[in-house]
Amino acid sequence: MPAIAVVGAQWGDEGKGKVVDFLASDVDWVIRYQGGANAGHTIVVDGRKSVLHLVPSGILAPRARCGIAGGVVLDPIALLEEVAFLELLGIEVRGRLFIAPECHLVLPHHKALDRAGEAARGGGGIGTTGRGIGPAYEERAARRGVRAGETLDAARFRARAREAHAAGGRAVARLYEGPPAPDSEFEAFLAAADALAPFLADVGARARAALDAGERVLLEGAQGTLLDVDHGTYPFVTSSNTTAAAAAVSVGIAPWAIGSVVAVYKAYATRVGAGPFPTEIAGEEAERLVAAGAEFGATTGRRRRVGWFDAVAARFAARLNGATGIALTKLDVLDAWDRVLVCVAYEREGRRVDEYPSDAIALAACRPVFEEWVGWREPTGGARRLADLPPRARAFAERLVALVGVPLEILSVGSGREETFRTAPTRAMI
Ligand code: GDP
Repeated sequence: MPAIAVVGAQWGDEGKGKVVDFLASDVDWVIRYQGGANAGHTIVVDGRKSVLHLVPSGILAPRARCGIAGGVVLDPIALLEEVAFLELLGIEVRGRLFIAPECHLVLPHHKALDRAGEAARGGGGIGTTGRGIGPAYEERAARRGVRAGETLDAARFRARAREAHAAGGRAVARLYEGPPAPDSEFEAFLAAADALAPFLADVGARARAALDAGERVLLEGAQGTLLDVDHGTYPFVTSSNTTAAAAAVSVGIAPWAIGSVVAVYKAYATRVGAGPFPTEIAGEEAERLVAAGAEFGATTGRRRRVGWFDAVAARFAARLNGATGIALTKLDVLDAWDRVLVCVAYEREGRRVDEYPSDAIALAACRPVFEEWVGWREPTGGARRLADLPPRARAFAERLVALVGVPLEILSVGSGREETFRTAPTRAMI
């Protein structure tokens, strides 16, 4: 049975958590494959809201087992807080959540480096979440990182972590003249790291065995395709590969084991942090969209920048991921608009541009060419199939999908689990 990857196909916050939660009732495994506690998936089940940063959204489905693959950078303090929160909600986590020993740990000095680095960049910052994710990936690449599996040998782990903490303190001072992470935070880190042991398991081997046995494995991304460290508008990107291919590397499965890729798009666009955003809107209309879509970061509470659906970027994201299906979310957010826009191409120095430039400067020079649609001005939240939608809403959704060129599989018209429906089967689930 081929694996299914679920990826954000814009700049993040597309509603991946909700789509994973929707699919999770039909799968055996949900495995998160990149990012760290900088991600935030908001899921609403029976009116109860949960925000997950590290634990896969599949934990809310009663049956699925969950994995955190080696490509994720793991903050043990954040993880244990999340486990405690889920247990408080009565959700069974122990025995269902497995963490790969290859995961690099986020240490307190990574957060200190993140904050000091962002402060030093002043107004020119990337807009990181300050969770230490970037510095943790940097140390992984520099081969100085400390991995989750090392916690099993307590004495050796403590010595390694102390050394890393001291070196990290010196790096913050040298690079940014910043303060080191407090020792109290480091002690809390050690205590949390000690508690990881029951969760450690060979996630890759389990995923491979599950696929061999014909089980359904869903691979959950974080952030968005357009923030991919290689293919996004560098340097305004996250510090890992977010695209579907990264799932195979992170988990340790064959690239061809991924049989379908569900690309999640909102019916408009948002971006958090700095970087070019051609369809961005400002002023009163932006405030209205922020309010209607509750566009505040799930991790940081930051107001998201908002804009119209960008089909040039969306098509690029679909191709990068090899998307086989679309999940379109938040169509309901546009219910009250008199007119809705979609960007069908860019214009740059008087010439039409149909290909998304991944170079930040080239993208910043692009102006959107918009197609304008009359709004439907009717609620869509009650729809449970395409035919229930107001005709203009359906036509708009179908236009977005046609511009991307991949079939629509899931439509979401509200934050609740029940406000989601299939329009076609997910390819690998047929
Ligand atoms: P993720 O990181 O991609 O999972 O996205 P976030 O959780 O950061 O943001 C998505 C937000 O939109 C969450 O608050 C969801 O509850 C909400 N949401 C998801 N789908 C819909 C939808 O179809 N309509 C509305 N109104 N809200 C939605």
